[in-house]
Amino acid sequence: MILIVGAGLAGLSTAYHLRGPVYRLYEKEKEAGGLCRSYQKDGFTFDFTGHLLHFRQPVIKELVEGLMAGQLARHGRRSFIYSHRTYTEYPFQVNTYGLPPEVVRDCLMGFIATLAPPTASVPSEDRSFTQWIQENLGEGIAKHFMRPFNEKLWQVSLDELTSDWVSWLVPKPEVKDVVNGALGIKDKAFGYNPSFLYPATGGIGALPNAFLARVSAPTYGCELVEVDTRRRKAVFQDGRVEHYQSLVSTMPVPELVRRCTDLPAEIHEAAL
Ligand SMILES: Cc1cc2nc3c(=O)[nH]c(=O)nc-3n(C[C@H](O)[C@H](O)[C@H](O)COP(=O)(O)OP(=O)(O)OC[C@H]3O[C@@H](n4cnc5c(N)ncnc54)[C@H](O)[C@@H]3O)c2cc1C
Repeated sequence: MILIVGAGLAGLSTAYHLRGPVYRLYEKEKEAGGLCRSYQKDGFTFDFTGHLLHFRQPVIKELVEGLMAGQLARHGRRSFIYSHRTYTEYPFQVNTYGLPPEVVRDCLMGFIATLAPPTASVPSEDRSFTQWIQENLGEGIAKHFMRPFNEKLWQVSLDELTSDWVSWLVPKPEVKDVVNGALGIKDKAFGYNPSFLYPATGGIGALPNAFLARVSAPTYGCELVEVDTRRRKAVFQDGRVEHYQSLVSTMPVPELVRRCTDLPAEIHEAAL
């Protein structure tokens, strides 16, 4: 028996792709979906956290479009940033038109300074997100948007974040784009999601629901509390015990490690 822990997208997708082999799917909450859930209130649908569907891998696009045939709508992005008492379009670095002139000047001058060849180059894999912002967007854009916004978003100092993941997420503009943005000229779309797919009804929760209709029903309200990896034994909060052949855990890795009773001390320490 294959034991799947967690009925978020990863657990549901595992169950869906296993198809034949016997599996059991356990979820600690009373419903499936994990982070990707929605709820209804006063006739409106709310997502637990905002989700847009944009696919980098054709195989995932095909999977989701197949599961949700006829249920997805395409939308153009219309997102704005409120700063300096003004709304500007996302992404900030190519839309500074309308901000106070001294802010626009800081952003332009800072960006122009990034065009000079760097004096001391740090290997790209060692650069922090702070350094990446400074080197690619300049001090003005860093000060007026990138640092405060990203510290709020990630809740850590940007010195603690690496920069290897940013290239696909943060648009790196050319000088013409930044100048156009300061003058209010719009001639192209930026970023990875200028348009995106989203369920026509039911909020983002429609996606896990599409998987749910095609997998064996999960056991809800059942939290995994202990794993003996040598004996392949899992214990749940209600006292239920499962002996498994393989365990697929989709809970955060440190949470899993804390529940494993027979792992070496150094692994437990690494999970702290
Ligand atoms: C703010 C935010 C915005 C995002 N925006 C997007 C977006 O726009 N587009 C996009 O594609 N992705 C987005 N994501 C990422 C996406 O939400 C996740 O990649 C995806 O939902 C993760 O699914 P998962 O199954 O791995 O984890 P989860 O959704 O966390 O599922 C894990 C499940 O395991 C259960 N569980 C945990 N511990 C136990 C236990 N001990 N016993 C039993 N069950 C347990 C949990 O209750 C949960 O249901 C966003 C994420 C966040 C936080």
